[in-house]
Amino acid sequence: MHYCIACGMPMEKPEDFGNNDPAAQTCVHCTQTDGSVKSCQEIFEWWVQFFMDSMGADRDLAEKLVRKNMLRLPYWQALSGPVATDEEFDATMQKL
Ligand SMILES: [Zn+2]
Repeated sequence: MHYCIACGMPMEKPEDFGNNDPAAQTCVHCTQTDGSVKSCQEIFEWWVQFFMDSMGADRDLAEKLVRKNMLRLPYWQALSGPVATDEEFDATMQKL
């Protein structure tokens, strides 16, 4: 199994990979059409919108959840700001 280095999303199908390229290290959400990786801010914003849209999280919680998820990844070690607790994170994942 491949995981996106920027957001941790599992990439299984060709369309999960950036530019449908199975050699890509980043997923379709984190890759621009020219093959480069989006900025941290753009990726962060995409996932905040995802959490807000898919489970009705408010903006505060969505941002904390995204930070929680991203901070596990080497790509994001420079990220700062409030982070969701394990309980908040687990409760959200169960709703997905
Ligand atoms: Zn990604």
